[in-house]
Amino acid sequence: MVRAEDDSALDRAARAMAAAGVDALLVGPGADLRYLTGYHALPLERLTLLVARADGDHRLIVPRLERPRAEAAEPGVPLVDFAETDDPFKVAAAALGGLERGRLGVGDRLWSTFLLGLQDALPAAAWSRASAVTRELRMRKAPAEVDALRRAGAAIDRVHARVAGLLRPGRTESEVGRDIAELIVAEGHDDVRFVIVASGPNGASPHHETGARALAAGDAVVVDIGGSVDGYCSDSTRDYVIGAAPAGYADAHAALEAAQQAARAAARPGVTAESVDAAARDLLTAAGYGELFVHRTGHGIGLEEHEDPYIVAGNDLVLEPGMAFSIEPGVYARGRWGMRLEDIVVVTDGGCERLNTRDLAAVEVAA
Ligand code: ZN
Ligand code: ZN
Ligand code: ZN
Repeated sequence: MVRAEDDSALDRAARAMAAAGVDALLVGPGADLRYLTGYHALPLERLTLLVARADGDHRLIVPRLERPRAEAAEPGVPLVDFAETDDPFKVAAAALGGLERGRLGVGDRLWSTFLLGLQDALPAAAWSRASAVTRELRMRKAPAEVDALRRAGAAIDRVHARVAGLLRPGRTESEVGRDIAELIVAEGHDDVRFVIVASGPNGASPHHETGARALAAGDAVVVDIGGSVDGYCSDSTRDYVIGAAPAGYADAHAALEAAQQAARAAARPGVTAESVDAAARDLLTAAGYGELFVHRTGHGIGLEEHEDPYIVAGNDLVLEPGMAFSIEPGVYARGRWGMRLEDIVVVTDGGCERLNTRDLAAVEVAA
């Protein structure tokens, strides 16, 4: 009865389960649940669990007090609620009737306390990771997902356009970070996912967030920021310099810009994820910065900031249209400075589309 245009994420998941020999997925709050049902569930100590079965007999199990939120999300799945004194694992086992000895894929982010309860209630089942099914679906973005990523990308570009005005000597990273968080929402995101303002030597720690360090003339500053629009994430890094750049910085940044462009030029259908990493890494290595590029070139992005596909040596996944990921080479000089240039791209039929389009040059800010 399902027409092709009505094909839902759950329909696709049921087909993928059947192909993979998985009888059901057990998915708690998080990106998989949002992808499959649209329900943005709260991560509570009470069990929320989607039971998605290969035979299509799905159930969304929710605490009774969460039922109004779950209904409002119109998850397209019959709801089963349980009262405060009910055993939610018995409810889950009932929803898995006939599959007591089945192969169950458990959401990668389901808390261990829930998995252990489910394993007690279903002692004969075989357990595996739900991501074996969901990663294949989520990695290939539908047009509506690409559109949300595009809007998020444009919004974070507008934030970067205003960052230079916030960087003044004497202000702390935390003060600047709070201003950036406000701009992330003001420029069109629904929420703030993260803010990194890493000044001077802090820039050499790729995931430094913000801190009490005050900006000073001669600082290089790495600003890596993101939020989400309709659940889909932005993530973009640009480099800023206050006054005169530190020694060695300009040469390294020129090499970094070339590496970022080379990786972007390499990203197209039919090539491997690792070849995109190599395009950036080979260039930085030839320029003498290979040892200072301490992380992979990128990560997939969608409902999560970091998801498949990972752009890293050893990943021979062949890129396809609709795959979205970051290209973010960096150079980190311990104790001195760091730099990173990050754009999100989506693979198209002939290459890739940049979702972040700001100039790559380090932005000079008056001291
Ligand atoms: Zn990161
Ligand atoms: Zn990133
Ligand atoms: Zn980032």
